Amino acid sequence: MQFENYVSHLECGITGEADYEKAQIHGLSRAGRPLLVRYDLEAMKGKLNKHEIWGREGGFWKWRELLPVVDTENVIALGEDDTPLLSCSKLASDMGVSGEIIIKDEGRLPTGSFKARGLALAVAMAKELGINRLAMPTNGNAGAAMAAYATAGGMESYIFAPDDTPDANIREISLMGGKVWRVNGLINDCGKIVGEGKESAGWFDVSTLKEPYRIEGKKTMGLELAAQLGWEVPDVIFYPTGGGTGLIGMWKAFNEMEALGWIGSKRPKMVAVQATGCAPIVKAFDEGARHAELWENAHTYAAGIRVPVAVGDFLILDAVRESGGFASAVDDDAIEEARQQIGRTEGVLVCPEGAATFAAYKKALKEGKVSKEERVVLFNCGNGLKYPMPEQADAIDRHKAIDYGKLIGVS
Ligand SMILES: *Cc1c(COP(=O)(O)O)cnc(C)c1O
Repeated sequence: MQFENYVSHLECGITGEADYEKAQIHGLSRAGRPLLVRYDLEAMKGKLNKHEIWGREGGFWKWRELLPVVDTENVIALGEDDTPLLSCSKLASDMGVSGEIIIKDEGRLPTGSFKARGLALAVAMAKELGINRLAMPTNGNAGAAMAAYATAGGMESYIFAPDDTPDANIREISLMGGKVWRVNGLINDCGKIVGEGKESAGWFDVSTLKEPYRIEGKKTMGLELAAQLGWEVPDVIFYPTGGGTGLIGMWKAFNEMEALGWIGSKRPKMVAVQATGCAPIVKAFDEGARHAELWENAHTYAAGIRVPVAVGDFLILDAVRESGGFASAVDDDAIEEARQQIGRTEGVLVCPEGAATFAAYKKALKEGKVSKEERVVLFNCGNGLKYPMPEQADAIDRHKAIDYGKLIGVS
């Protein structure tokens, strides 16, 4: 069966050249930059009812008219669901915030991260275009999502990860049928292996933004968020930025929704959050540059944002600037402190990348870049259980007398 499909063409993200045909295999544009999928929004207008779409089951697959998949047979479903908005009222009252602090918890998706959104679409489109062998570099979560969707779709996946990638990620990739290697380098070094192996291994390069469809999957975060807030956008979005797919995707979603008359012209300030040990986008933003330079000796324990170079850097920077937002770097100590504060105050376990957004929010409040009256959304992009956690428990000797008063902190 065929979906109603409104894709008109693809265009180069930097030159705007619009002669890239739909239903064909594409990598980067001729300019070596990401391609963006364009839809006939005029034809959709008036035909689509946002409330009807929002009422559907199926998580991000419900947005099918705004997605590129044509044949229903190519949809690969692993139990997707909309991810919750968690309003952090205790943190807000502790900090004297009268607006709202909301965590969008993407750790609930299949494979425990929002990479499911992007890879579900990239893998489904590869299937639709007759590709059977996929490869990518990963800091962990993307590889897991690709392995899961490729296996579910009956395809092969080859995955290359820096050797210090969290163990849970490497093992889950393998358990879900992906072939995975640890590489003595960073994600861009892994990317080189994928690129250079293309000819001899005959695989398709699913690196971040090097094929056009991951953005379309990540776009659903913006659609879903607006729908959950009653077809409104928040005042500020803090987004942990590696390759920037999610930030670029959400920005695209807001523009498409406005063109459809689903939301107004208000936009959230988009804040790109990075770690001080790897902050190429922050540096470029501060210097007023449109492209970011390769970050040397990248380090941070927030693995998902340890990305020294991003092919879509200008798309991230354009969106941040257009939105009136900014870019912000926080160090690993601030990230860990934020993770513990969220967990111990709200009972919500976030990943380090998610915690970085809260650390950046606190910093922005202090610097007066956001106000306490604003409604902010912090993206927790992965399940906190995938990452090492600090040892906390003391031991009890059950053969000795137990001082119960001491356990609860009295006596
Ligand atoms: C990949 C990843 C990021 C970065 O996402 P991009 O959209 O590629 O910038 C942030 N957090 C986690 C947990 C990730 O897995």
